[in-house]
Amino acid sequence: MTSRGENADPQADLQADLQAKARDHLWPHFGSLAALRAKGLPVITRGEGCHVWDDQGRRYLDALAGLFVVQAGHGRDEIVERGAEQGRQLGYFPIWSYGHPPAIELAARLAEHAPGDLNRVFFTTGGSEAVETAWKLARHYFKVIGQPQRYKVISRTRSYHGTTLGALSITGVTALRSPYEPITPGAYHVATTNSYRSAFPDEITADPEAFAKACADSIEQAIEAEGPETVAAVFLEPVQNSGGSFTPPPGYFARVREICDRYGVLLVSDEVICAYGRLGHMFGCERYGYVPDMITSAKGLTSGYAPLGAVLVSDRIAEPFTEPGVVFTHGLTFAGHPVSCAVALANLDVFEREDLLGNVLAHEDDLRGRMESLLDLPIVGDVRGAGYFLSLELVKDKANKSIKFTQQESSALIRGHLGPKLYEAGIICRADDRGEPVIQLAPPLVMGPEGFAEIEKILRPVLAEAWTHING
Ligand code: PMP
Repeated sequence: MTSRGENADPQADLQADLQAKARDHLWPHFGSLAALRAKGLPVITRGEGCHVWDDQGRRYLDALAGLFVVQAGHGRDEIVERGAEQGRQLGYFPIWSYGHPPAIELAARLAEHAPGDLNRVFFTTGGSEAVETAWKLARHYFKVIGQPQRYKVISRTRSYHGTTLGALSITGVTALRSPYEPITPGAYHVATTNSYRSAFPDEITADPEAFAKACADSIEQAIEAEGPETVAAVFLEPVQNSGGSFTPPPGYFARVREICDRYGVLLVSDEVICAYGRLGHMFGCERYGYVPDMITSAKGLTSGYAPLGAVLVSDRIAEPFTEPGVVFTHGLTFAGHPVSCAVALANLDVFEREDLLGNVLAHEDDLRGRMESLLDLPIVGDVRGAGYFLSLELVKDKANKSIKFTQQESSALIRGHLGPKLYEAGIICRADDRGEPVIQLAPPLVMGPEGFAEIEKILRPVLAEAWTHING
């Protein structure tokens, strides 16, 4: 490694300096320090619209909105300016006992957008904290209303709900939980709505109504098995990310809502990815016609220009906390940060001014069509998802789905091959092997047909080459 000053090219010096510092000091999230030491890491320095640039000046199409975050696209001055303006006015003050205009205005604006009576907003700094907060609030709520034995939660296998210990328990990815066991007790996992590789017999999966019923009823069975009087909440994403954009079959959420109501269990819609336009609606639950008791959200709320999460809570759940002496003893120093809330308000202004929800609804079929055109490749087995949130499942044998990649093969394909190849080809997307191997796409909501064509153009040769790579 050349150290700074030894190279004639100052730009190369700077790059080498950053790599050296990263190798010695940065701990990348979910990243291998061994890989960092061996290969360094990509350094992204700039973004504009649907593209980002690395420190060597190479341009990449951001087909993942960073990490399901940058709804309004990169480089939006009007969002940055509002944050700077707020920073000058009041750079920090807590919302512990105090309020400040941006947090108050944003809470009111979110309540206005939210379905049903989700009128109360508890801010966090991100998604894991939102999930953590919702579980704590559900437990506290039941204690306050005289059902103190209700503390358990039900979520789906392979689902991702965050990394803090409570949220990690709700997360259904075994490999993510096992290094930290014993973790928070009380979380149970049920069937996903994966119709491509269903947990149910073919005749049930083939009939959407029967499949919806079977998936929803697995929640009821878990409630019964655990003891209904002990279950506090069910946590579900509108479209499940981990495993590859599993959409709900028609009628699934209506039945889940009915089951939750029958057993007095709260329904939490974890919309850390699915809210703020990802599915063409402000909240993902609106797309599927259900009203949850809480919505957990983060990511797209600020388009990533500042960190912020929000739990939207129904009047019914908030009501017992309006009694004198009843306090939700939970808070986070930076939650509802004035700069983040101002940024979120500016972001929502962009949503309105540019009709980002309308853009997603107008163009989602086009995106899907582009990705479905890749089904002519032998490695692409399934294309699924909704809105600007799609996944391509990669298969070993399209004619016989039961012939699957082993975990080792999947990891070699995804981490060893496709991850670096996609990046080299100039696209930011996610090659994921938490279940079957998938490519996940979640472009900024400002993207249109031109961007979709660019995604297809980049993916096609890389996926074709991956097939040759694994077979030859
Ligand atoms: N819930 C869901 C559905 C998520 O997708 C994520 C993050 N991808 C989280 C929770 C955790 O959010 P964060 O990374 O902001 O803590």
